[in-house]
Parts: sequence; structure tokens; C-alpha cells
Amino acid sequence: MTGTVFSVSLGPGEPELITLKALNVLKSADVIYCPGTALATGGVKSRARDILQALPVDEGKVQVYAVPMSKQREAANEAYDRLCGEILRQVAEGKQIAVTAEGDACFYSSAYYLYERLQAADCPVKMVAGVPAFIAAAAAAGLHIAKQQERLLVIPGDVVVEELLESVVSKRTLVIMKVPLGEAIMRPFMARHPELHYHYFEQVGTPDEFYSTDLSEILRRKFTYFSLLVISAH
Ligand code: SAH
Repeated sequence: MTGTVFSVSLGPGEPELITLKALNVLKSADVIYCPGTALATGGVKSRARDILQALPVDEGKVQVYAVPMSKQREAANEAYDRLCGEILRQVAEGKQIAVTAEGDACFYSSAYYLYERLQAADCPVKMVAGVPAFIAAAAAAGLHIAKQQERLLVIPGDVVVEELLESVVSKRTLVIMKVPLGEAIMRPFMARHPELHYHYFEQVGTPDEFYSTDLSEILRRKFTYFSLLVISAH
């Protein structure tokens, strides 16, 4: 009998935003893997683990794996290869494995790197959908992110270019993830366009949540990785 791997979406931070299906999979899994980042001071920080701690899930089966910074591709690939091997051995023993992801597991998620390796090894993998951060952010601010004929574009900060900002905001709402990666272009653009509406969010659904629509306050802010920006003309 072989087991199954579930790629489980945890939602963006607020424990109640996990789905019932995801919670049931976590409860019945033999091992739950959480991605984390190694700290210079030792230890590993993991937002996925932080979310799990607030849920009725046995902590004893949670394992955090450190993924090297995204720029160190080779080291990251090695970490995924190692973890994939470990998971495949357990699946062969019939174990049910959950691999967690913040927000939704198939939306700009590093869960993808593991998923593609497991699939290539013919391992049964299932995905459990979840609430992505930008949807939770909009809800927290009472924002109807797209209505009627409006269009929406979601991009990561590292693909932001001036022309894109200029051309899209008049026609559609723009959601920018990984804000610091695009700030060199976004900051001057925002300063030149005070007529647009800006919604800046950090750490939605956590005790450190920050939200502002005040352009000068946003521009004074040091952008953090767990932030997103919604720009619209209306
Ligand atoms: N899979 C996630 C996205 C991961 S990519 C999802 O479905 O939302 C990481 C980016 O997600 C961050 O740079 C930030 O833009 C956004 N993000 C994730 N959690 C967030 C949160 N709690 N508050 C604000 N932004 C968040």
C-alpha cells in the first residue's frame, strides 16, 4: 500500500482561514512538513508552523525544513531533492504526508518545486485549495477587489516595469505581491500619481497586520516581504 502526499493550503495567516478540508487532511496525516527560513542566530522561522500552532493539530508530527534564499538556486534545489527523497521513502511505507503552504499552495508558492519533483517520480500528489493573501487582504479592508466589468491583474514585484504601471491602472486594478522587489520603480510612480488609490497591506491576519491607504504614510514605510499593494484608478 502506498501513501499520498497532500499539498495543503493554510491560508495567509489567520488560523480560521484554513478550509475544513485542509484541516481534516492535516489531522489524518502521519507527517506534516512546513517550509521555513534558517535564521542567522540558529533555528528556523516558519510562518506555516506558526499557523499550525493555533490549530488543533498534533505538534509532534510537524517537521520544519529550511529552504535556502530564493537567489541560492542550487542550494534550494538540493534541499528540495533531499526532502523529496525523504517523502518518497515514507510514501512507499504507506504514510500520508502533508506539505503545507501559506495562502494557496498553487499561487506563487514554493510548494510547486516539491510538487513537480513528486509528480515526476510518479508519487500520488493531491492539492488542497486555500485562501490567497490578496483575497484575505481585500476582505480585511472591506474592499470589493473586482466588480461588474472591472478587470484584475496580479503580478509579483520583480516584474514591475514603469510602462506596465502606466498602462494598466487606468483600465484595471493591479495587485502587486512581493512589494519590496518592485519598489525602485513603484515608489517614484506612486509619488507622481497621487490621484490613484493605494491599499498597502502587511502581515494580513496576524497580530502584526498593518494597512494604509494614505499615500504619504505608505511611501514613508519600509516595505516588508509579507506585504501586498492594490492600486486602482477608482
Ligand atoms: N501562496 C501565497 C503567496 C506566496 S508568495 C498566497 O496564496 O497568497 C509570498 C507573497 O505573498 C508575499 O510577498 C506577499 O505579497 C504575499 N503574502 C502572503 N501572506 C501574506 C500576508 N499575510 N499579508 C500580506 N501579504 C502576504
